[in-house]
Amino acid sequence: MRYLSTRGQAAPRDFEGVLLAGLAEDGGLFLPESWPTLSPAEWRGLRGLPYHQLAARLLTPFVGDCLKPAELSAMTAAAYAGFGHPAVAPLVQLEERTFALELFHGPTLAFKDMAMQLLGRLFDHVLTKRGERITIVGATSGDTGSAAIEACRDREAISIVILHPNGRTSEVQRRQMTTVLSPNVANLALEGDFDSCQDLVKAMFNDAPFRTEMKLAAVNSINWARVAAQIPYYAYAALSLGAPDRPVAFSVPTGNFGNVLAAWAVKQMGLPVERLIVGANRNDILARFITANDMTARPVEPSLSPSMDIQVSSNFERLLFELLGRDGAATRTTMERFRAEGRMPVPDAAWREATRLFRGFTLDDAGTLGEIRHLWTSTGYLADPHTAVGTAAARAFMPEDKGIPVVVAATAHPAKFPDAVEQATGQRPPLPARMADLYQREERYSLLPADLGQVESFVRAHARRNG
Ligand SMILES: *Cc1c(COP(=O)(O)O)cnc(C)c1O
Repeated sequence: MRYLSTRGQAAPRDFEGVLLAGLAEDGGLFLPESWPTLSPAEWRGLRGLPYHQLAARLLTPFVGDCLKPAELSAMTAAAYAGFGHPAVAPLVQLEERTFALELFHGPTLAFKDMAMQLLGRLFDHVLTKRGERITIVGATSGDTGSAAIEACRDREAISIVILHPNGRTSEVQRRQMTTVLSPNVANLALEGDFDSCQDLVKAMFNDAPFRTEMKLAAVNSINWARVAAQIPYYAYAALSLGAPDRPVAFSVPTGNFGNVLAAWAVKQMGLPVERLIVGANRNDILARFITANDMTARPVEPSLSPSMDIQVSSNFERLLFELLGRDGAATRTTMERFRAEGRMPVPDAAWREATRLFRGFTLDDAGTLGEIRHLWTSTGYLADPHTAVGTAAARAFMPEDKGIPVVVAATAHPAKFPDAVEQATGQRPPLPARMADLYQREERYSLLPADLGQVESFVRAHARRNG
């Protein structure tokens, strides 16, 4: 399998190349040259497989020759072995036609573990084979950093440094990062906000000598391997509900568009996906695009679902490329204009095409609390604020055909956002038993001012110690 850049100028690469590169040299994102498809009979043959085996089977065409089948199977088995539920991603019926696909049984209680646990192993495998080491640096406002740390801890070929804004993540989120005491993991609390953390990470990547010296790498959601590793759970849910002989819809609480893009990918691969419902909080750029072709960036505002507090959804570029008929030059111009003017000029025909499949839904904080309360009182289900945006979106855009179920991506465990859940329901969701001692565990992190020189010295010392 070869991968192309959405901006049409970078040389095609294989899976290993896109895994290590992340972003293409022309600033674009990688996509498969063509989508692998399965026939209905082949899909039926995958029903009932354990999650890790289904994942290995579906990822095989994307990985190509970069891994032997046995290596990939061993890797998916190991990646999901530590999940807190034997089904890995259980499907829970909420209402007559509404199901929650629980993606939060991994080590950090949010859906990013589903991809990250595989990604850490892929990186380690490829680097070890090449005899290389890398240093992963990233900025986080919460979920991504902890998922990356859990995925990279104790891996020989990787050092990882995660920057978070001091005092501005939730305590659960901070402790999930700072209580990982593996020697290859370092946490930096920065005196500043999330944007200043992100600016420092960008500055490190832009410092070419430093970048080369440290072999800097990123694990952000633009990495194709992360999107690919999210494809199997949508297939798993659809097959469980009768696909390919019964169509399904998905409702996905969305920030960077990575998760919903994986749902879109299973449709490309031949499963009957009737509708994709994109749920947003007050940072609703995607919902505005879908309802009115208005992709205008506005300032980010904090909400009860902080992992969706995003205004520029980087993975949208992959859908745009497809909507524009895979025209790299047109995608490049559109993205450059968006960057320059803050408004994306999507041609009317492309937007209309998107509206055939996608629905956009926005829910403010009061609505989110109301939805959490509604689910609790009507079904006894405790949903986190992100998942609640998804369930409300599903109700708003339930397919007219009564035979079509809607699967909501349940992206975080309620115990990860206990304050909002308690405010809505009076119930304080407990942490799962396997991490009940999180608040007693020893923490380790360093506090630094938002100064590039000091942060680079810290990263260098940390990488040396492990090298
Ligand atoms: C990251 C995240 C999202 C948004 O996912 P995208 O792939 O960025 O759209 C939603 N919910 C939770 C809990 C998350 O951590």
